[in-house]
Amino acid sequence: AALAADPGAPHDARSLLSAEETEWQLSTFLGRTEPLPADSFLDVLAERVRRHPDDLAVAHGGDRWSYRRLDERSDQVARGLRAHGVLGEEEVVGVVMDRSPEWIAAVLGILKAGGVYLPARPDFPGERTGRQFRRGECRVVLTDHLGASAEHRQVAARVEEAVAACPRRPAVVTVRELVAASGSVRPPDTPSGPGRLAYVYFTSGSTGEPKGAMIEHGSLLNHLLAKIEDLGIGPGDVVAQTAPACFDISFWQIFAPLLVGGSTRIVDADTQLDIARFLDEVEHAGVRVMQLVPSYLDVLLAHVERDPRRPPSLRAVSVTGEALKPDLARRWFAAFPGIPLVNAYGATEVADDTMHEILVEPPRQGFISVGGLLRNVYAYVLDDRLRPAPLGAPGQIAFAGICVGRGYINDEERTARAFVPDPARPGTRMYLTGDIGRWLPDGRIEFLGRRDQQVKIQGFRIETGEVENRMLGVSGVREAAVVVDASGPHEKSLVAFYLADGEVTGDDVRAGLVRSLPDYMVPTRIRRLDAMPLTANGKVDRLRLARQLTSPS
Ligand code: ADP
Repeated sequence: AALAADPGAPHDARSLLSAEETEWQLSTFLGRTEPLPADSFLDVLAERVRRHPDDLAVAHGGDRWSYRRLDERSDQVARGLRAHGVLGEEEVVGVVMDRSPEWIAAVLGILKAGGVYLPARPDFPGERTGRQFRRGECRVVLTDHLGASAEHRQVAARVEEAVAACPRRPAVVTVRELVAASGSVRPPDTPSGPGRLAYVYFTSGSTGEPKGAMIEHGSLLNHLLAKIEDLGIGPGDVVAQTAPACFDISFWQIFAPLLVGGSTRIVDADTQLDIARFLDEVEHAGVRVMQLVPSYLDVLLAHVERDPRRPPSLRAVSVTGEALKPDLARRWFAAFPGIPLVNAYGATEVADDTMHEILVEPPRQGFISVGGLLRNVYAYVLDDRLRPAPLGAPGQIAFAGICVGRGYINDEERTARAFVPDPARPGTRMYLTGDIGRWLPDGRIEFLGRRDQQVKIQGFRIETGEVENRMLGVSGVREAAVVVDASGPHEKSLVAFYLADGEVTGDDVRAGLVRSLPDYMVPTRIRRLDAMPLTANGKVDRLRLARQLTSPS
């Protein structure tokens, strides 16, 4: 595993640096340096296809696609996109598809054409998807929902609402249509280079506007290789594809195994809702590696503790997205002794995970660190003036090196706030995570929480400010505050408070939110107040609001 952290940079490089650069370099830890073997993962994948075209690449239910089939279908998509003006100039292509082998071919085809993948979800409100397409200046939208069924009509209406929100309306096409249009088109030369943009994943934004994190091919390949290395993914290994398309986790769940001759197994959302069925599928498909969010692992373990079973193929499980509590890890090792549990930490803006803690036995301490740095990744812990905090003191975690994304798409202001110059490597930038942590003496980091109102519910990243802003959009609502209720025994939930003029019920507010926010962002409880509790300096007193939750409404 790549977890040994070397402090600072190589010695000879240091002598050429200014005193300030040296101080910064001494304050950082670096995961192992490892040159990238290619410009993009597409080159590595192409080699696999050439050598083992008939191996299994993607499975979904009874559907099984070989590397060759995936390659041919994605080539057709790439050619069809060319006919729609995707010419390798980083044109953004929105995708509103269910997870399926065809979806994976679409993602691959977009990248082969030199386009940029922007995922959206069929079940998300058209208004929110529209904000993403507009912000991303989408050129084309790919969907598989243009059929006659009621569900398809509903999704088509959402897609229509989304594209109508764009000043320059993107073309809406199905993969089938692209394939039909592909015949006469010359295959594009896949433009390459590690600095080319690969994808944009949107995350919640506190102002009410989602932010689209842009990730380049070099960062992406680095991340895929780190996952392969630390999770020990090899030829023939099956990785479960469990994450929704709008989660960047879904990317490595697909492509990490494909770079080493393994396969990805798409596990549908409704199967995941029923733990017994989920474990059946894991066992039946021979899943060896999977990554879940802690809240799901909690439910899975509760099931297995009642009804012990252990899919024999499982070899490593990773959790990510939220703090891993020692108790959950202990329960893991009680139910699955000998199977490593990897705490993966990172953020969408730094190409997903940047640190891994690989546990092979139950933790003895009162916390689990987020581990050591992945290859080619640097980290800092910074004080309030964005200077290196003393070793061991709490501060904001920042990442630098190859993992750092290009910024937020078409959003210079928010990019400049979060992506700032890296003083140790002039000309490059570091990403300020907003997370608080501290260095442990061995180069690992202990995660201590957030410095803002960003929360996680079932692993989904939510800025409570985005929900509050949408509430203020409901007619009559004057003030809004959203807090997390973590008092229950199980998953946390969002609770909203509001002040309003006239007759505005909680149901009215809910109806307004459902129109513009995905399900997981709509508060479970919405309560009207006569006055907002304030702190001594006049801010909404969130602690007091959270305390009210344990009292009856
Ligand atoms: P991802 O790239 O994994 O999808 P998101 O961008 O959705 O991540 O969320 C990133 C944030 O999630 C981090 O800044 C941190 O607050 C939290 N987070 C992610 N992984 C962990 C972890 N292992 N432990 C604690 N917090 C985590």
